[in-house]
Amino acid sequence: MVGVSFPKPNEMMTSPNSLTVENLTVFYPKSKEPALQKVTLNVEASSILSIVGASGSGKSTLLRALCGLESPTSGTIKLGGKILGSSTKFVRPDRRKIGLVSQSGDLFPHLNVFQNLAYGLINWRRADRKPRCKELLEAISLTGFEKRFPHELSGGEKQRIALARALAPRPPLLLLDEPFSNLDSKLRQSLRRLTEEILRKEKTTTIFVTHHPEDAFATGDSIAVMDSGTIIQCDTPRNLWKNPVSPVAASLFDQVSQLPSSNFPSWLRANEIELVEESHEGFGSGIIHEIEFLGKTQMIYVKIPNNLAPIIVEVTSEREFRIGSKVGLKHKN
Ligand code: ADP
Ligand code: MG
Repeated sequence: MVGVSFPKPNEMMTSPNSLTVENLTVFYPKSKEPALQKVTLNVEASSILSIVGASGSGKSTLLRALCGLESPTSGTIKLGGKILGSSTKFVRPDRRKIGLVSQSGDLFPHLNVFQNLAYGLINWRRADRKPRCKELLEAISLTGFEKRFPHELSGGEKQRIALARALAPRPPLLLLDEPFSNLDSKLRQSLRRLTEEILRKEKTTTIFVTHHPEDAFATGDSIAVMDSGTIIQCDTPRNLWKNPVSPVAASLFDQVSQLPSSNFPSWLRANEIELVEESHEGFGSGIIHEIEFLGKTQMIYVKIPNNLAPIIVEVTSEREFRIGSKVGLKHKN
């Protein structure tokens, strides 16, 4: 089942904890351009939507508007069918009960791990608080860490506690704003898998903002692509990879090059281009001006006449090239 779709007209979202955002526009004070412009999306209950987009495209603003830290200029936010924010209604952030985990976790430094986890359980029966915290510490493999303070935790441990703290009160919606971006790539991958496992078990409706394509693909039931405050595409990971709406959408997931204007297709991925003899029939020829050795592969940057940006070609690392050599370029298929 597809987790996210654009809502159809007159469609009533009555499922508990499904999120509907319609034409959400947010202006920051003193800013002429909207940070969000007519953003529309649905996140089905218990599903995970990944959001990707360049820095400044409005990802954090969207999350801030969802949890009530920004007021929409126009548009509507509904959770489980109830309006949280519109031009006439505004539910206070603390009443929305939405969980948010940021890049830095923001644990309360003066509270120990148990107190951090129990912070959102103030309205729970005292007898239920301990088992809930114990259950979550077990899920994040930090059993026994109750008495530690944030300064006694590693970066990865802090982020796991921040996730558990956000999940503790069973929020109707969880927002993850690049929660693992400060961690090294091995740790990021393992925390991504752990997080998904917990979210699926807890059946938490989640929006996961990330700038790592693999995180978005691996975790999301669907992915929304943001550009300049708008959602330019929203689809399943496989469809998005196969049919990106534009080079901008494709470039968030892979190295792509815009080809000279007379070519079709107008852009190609780095692994779809072949380096051939200069005289060979291809879509162009040029001069190698940069070689980026990446271990498993290497990226060859070829400058061709009348094309502002170089064409980027991915080749295996065994092949040897020299800066300044003339080469031909061919679409692989
Ligand atoms: P992202 O999370 O995708 O990097 P943001 O949502 O943080 O993007 O920012 C979107 C746009 O809004 C950017 O142009 C940014 O400069 C602007 N912006 C973000 N926060 C504020 C603010 N508090 N006041 C004014 N402009 C802001
Ligand atoms: Mg951001």
